[in-house]
Parts: sequence; C-alpha cells; structure tokens
Amino acid sequence: MTVKKQTGAKLAAPKAPRVKVRLRLDKLCLAVDGRTAAELIQNAQTALKETRFIELRLDSISKPAEALAPLKKFIHANPGASVIATCRRKANGGGYTGSLASEFEVLIGAAEAGCQMVDLELESAEAAKAAQIDELRKTHVGGKKNAKAAAAANGIGIVDEIPLALMISYHDYQRTKQLEKVAERIEAFEPDYVKVVSTAKSLNDNLMVLDLLSARSAESQIVAIAMGDEGLLSRILGPREGAVFTFGASSESKGTAPGQITARAMRDLYRFDQLDGATKIYGVFGNPILHSLSPVMQGTAFRREGMNAVFLPLKAHSAEELLSFFRKLPMAGAAVTMPFKLDVMPHLANCDAFAQKTGAVNTLRMGADGNIYGFNTDIAGIVRPLERRMKIAGAKIAVLGAGGAARAAVYGLVAAGAEVFVINRTHEKAAALARKAKAHTLKHDKLAKEPMDVLINATPCGMTGSRTSLPIAKNELNAKLVFDLVYNPLETPLLQLARSRGIPVISGVEMFVQQGAQQFEIWTARPAPEADMLRSVLHALEEGHEEKS
Ligand code: NAP
Repeated sequence: MTVKKQTGAKLAAPKAPRVKVRLRLDKLCLAVDGRTAAELIQNAQTALKETRFIELRLDSISKPAEALAPLKKFIHANPGASVIATCRRKANGGGYTGSLASEFEVLIGAAEAGCQMVDLELESAEAAKAAQIDELRKTHVGGKKNAKAAAAANGIGIVDEIPLALMISYHDYQRTKQLEKVAERIEAFEPDYVKVVSTAKSLNDNLMVLDLLSARSAESQIVAIAMGDEGLLSRILGPREGAVFTFGASSESKGTAPGQITARAMRDLYRFDQLDGATKIYGVFGNPILHSLSPVMQGTAFRREGMNAVFLPLKAHSAEELLSFFRKLPMAGAAVTMPFKLDVMPHLANCDAFAQKTGAVNTLRMGADGNIYGFNTDIAGIVRPLERRMKIAGAKIAVLGAGGAARAAVYGLVAAGAEVFVINRTHEKAAALARKAKAHTLKHDKLAKEPMDVLINATPCGMTGSRTSLPIAKNELNAKLVFDLVYNPLETPLLQLARSRGIPVISGVEMFVQQGAQQFEIWTARPAPEADMLRSVLHALEEGHEEKS
C-alpha cells in the first residue's frame, strides 16, 4: 500500500510494528545447566519441582545438539512446562564455541523440540543476516508436523498454532552502564522479549536496572537484572518495577549466574511475586553480607505479621554508598552490620543515647521528616535476656572482651545499674573502655577469685573457625550465670562447661533475636513476633548458616 502526498510523490507506508508473541509465563524462571545432556535434562526435571518455567543452558554441554532428542521427550512428558532454550556463545559469556550458523541451528532444533522461547544474544543478532533471524522466528514450536497435527485436530486449519517467542539478550559481565542504549539496540530487532543483564559493582547500580524496567515495561516485555552479590536486590525487586519475570536457581549449588537466589528464598523469604508499589523496603547493610541471618529473621517477622514489607541483604562498600542508596530507593529502615556500624554515625541527623555513647549504630529508620535516624539495639540484645532472668541493678557482671559487642554490653549494663568488670586480652583497651563507661577493670588472673553474678563472653573464642575454644581456663569459671554472645555453634564450649557445672546459660542467639526484635519495633511500632524470629534463626543455623549479625 502507498500513500500519496499532495505533491504527488509516492511514499512507503510506515511499517506496522510486529505483533509480539505473549506467552503465559510464571514470574520465576529457573536457569538450568549440566555437564552432559542427561544431567541437563535431569536438572531440568528437578527444577520443575519449584516452577513451571525453566531456561535450559544448552551451551553448558559440549555438544548441545545431543540434548535435542532428550529435550523433545522431556517437553512431551511435561506439557505444562515453559522452556527457554539458550545457546550462548563463549565470546558473549556462555560456553558455546561453535559458529554463528550452528548457534542458529541449535536454537531452531530446540524450538522444534518444543521450547516456546529462544534466547539469542544481541551480538549474534547483530552479526546474523536478516534471513537467519527470520528463519528462526518462523520455526514452529514442536516442529512443523506437530503444528499441522494440532491444526487438523482443532479443525480450523490454523497451522501456526504455537508461535515461537524470540528473546534477545545482552550480558555485561563487568559493569552496569548505558542500559537504555543497550535496550534500544535490542528493540531494533523487535523481539518478543528483551533481556538486559549487567553486573552490579555498587548498590546504586541496581537503581539503574530498576529505572530501566519502570521506563520500558509498559511497551516492552522486558527482563533486567544486575548480576553479583551487590545486584541481588534487582532480582527480587525487578518484577515490582515491571519485569515480566526474574531468574533464580533451583538450589544454592545450582545457580548459573553470580547472585542467583534459590526459588524457595525468592518466594517464601522475599515474596518477590507479592511486592508492589506500597511495599516497604528494609534490609541489612554489610560486607560480606550473604550469610547474614537478619533477612531470614526479619523476613519471617514481616510475613508472620502480614506486613507488606521486604527485607534484603545489601552488600555495600562504604557508609556514603549505603546512605545514598537508602535515600534514593527509598528504604523505610535498615540494619547495619560490620564494617559500617561506626562509619554511618557522623552522617545521621540524630542518634539514640546508646548509639551516641557507644559510637556505633546498628539500626536506621527513615523519619517522617525525610531524615535518617540511628539507633543501637545491640544493647537491648544483651540487657533484655538478662533482665528477664534477674535483677540487673547491683549485680556483679564480668565482660570478657573490649570490642564492639563488649562495648554494647558494658554501656548497657552500667546504665541498668550493674557493677561491670571489663577483662580483655589487651588490658589497655579494657582500661579505656572501663574509664569511659564508668565500669571497672579486672586482670584475667584475678577472675577465678572474684565471684560474679554473670560472666559474659564478648570475644570470638568458641566460634566456629576460632582457634581458641574457651575464653577462660576451666578453673576460672566462678559465676552464677553465663551468657555467651557467640552463637555458632549454638552450644559453645563455654556453655558446655557452664552446663556441666550446673550453671544456667544464655546463648548468643538470644542476643541476636533480641537486638532484631527491638529493630522490628523501631521500624514498625509493633511488638516483634519473637518466638517466630527465634525459630527461623535456629532453623537457619541448623541448616548450616554462618554467624553474622
Ligand atoms: P571485635 O570488635 O573484633 O572484638 C573482639 C574482642 O575479643 C577484642 O576485645 C579482642 O581482644 C578479643 N579477642 C579476640 N580474640 C581473642 C582471643 N583469642 N582470646 C582472648 N580475647 C580475644 O568483635 P565484636 O564485634 O566485639 O564481636 C565479638 C564476638 O561477639 C563475635 O565474634 C561474635 O561471636 C559475638 N557477637 C554476637 C552478636 C550476637 O548478636 N549474638 C553480636 C555481635 C557480636 P583484643 O582487644 O586484645 O584484640
């Protein structure tokens, strides 16, 4: 068709945009790889227990064509599954070393085997001839024979019964940069699905990914994530910003890209598919952070209380970065752990009295006035378990250690009226802390002769991986109650020793849960569901989590 201009010159009609293939997909796609065709299909079968939507990394095996026959059987046996076939070339970060032409052959073979979507890298699309891409698009899912059989069966003669969806993807394994430009390059091919993957080097890189999604998701079926520990939240928050789906791993050992989260954690812990514009965002900042138990504990509390909130692990590199991210996202509140507890303080509008005394902040809250406020709940973590068992005022309490945890113990217990004695390997540090906090010092060799109401271990002795198992000699234990702040293992050598003497004990898990309970109260102004929080932490520790607060 042509359109006549008034001058009489002929103009070509504007090309109608392609009608995009829209598949009915789960929100979570599990990427699956394998060393052999059999293992790939076996892993795919396992992944189907978690979701109906999988990505098969055909490039993970040396001869992807060998997987096509078993793949066809697999899809036939699992008609409810949606499968993306990927054969990413080595030059683009995958494992496939064949030619561009053979990459197309593998993808066409996978579509004919029944995959509803193929993933073609942008670099391959740009290097290919238009005819190659056309041929790929025209491939019948399940093969031509299948389409004809389906058409005959439905009696209406529609041959293209199941259209193939083409996804064009771009992966940057170094950085997050110029995402809009990349998306435009992809859109030039009018694919059915657009996938932009970058690597996050800082938390703020996630904001670029989320901005891309919210800007483009109305017009495009788009997926965007940032790989790496720093980019973890882009996987969780992506669907909230309009990503058609997000990626996960079927188990912790089976991820195919850095930063992937298990399907179970995505659904149960982060509830990624229930997040919306009203969801309040919380998290824990630290470095390293992936083994923090705070997301399990606080995520459980939010779920238990039926709150529209999510709690994320956030790997930061500086106090400035974490605060700028907190403001920009914006977040409603956060936990702060090592190594930022001291560094954040000078940047805050105001802090509670204990944070000011100890110089350390472990909790942030966004105020109604737009300012960020700091708190120290480590103190409650130590004082609350004790006050539930005894009268602290007037009690004689020995604190072993003079680091961050000891500081919280000493300031908190002095304020509660206890007579506190600081004992530390480096005596000068004990003396400095005692002087500032109005406590006493005690030389280690005097401990056995000085009866105490409570002995608190605030050193890492006894922690899994620590070379020293007991912070004191066996004959030095002379207290009525022992509180070990270490909680991995749950039953530390010090707690074992105390129990063997019939001395009551408090585990460091109680401190962790109590400091978290007070954080929850600061953020939500509700009583924390302590029992559920404790249960979730104990369960995670039994499953082999490392200790970090
Ligand atoms: P920190 O700031 O590094 O302080 C460690 C303290 O332990 C220092 O005073 C150090 O003495 C002393 N120390 C280290 N190794 C020792 C050894 N082999 N023998 C005797 N003393 C030793 O650490 P922190 O942040 O206070 O944490 C201490 C422990 O508390 C952690 O390992 C963790 O297990 C536990 N903690 C638990 C929670 C919880 O929620 N339950 C929270 C925070 C910490 P020097 O001054 O001589 O170096």
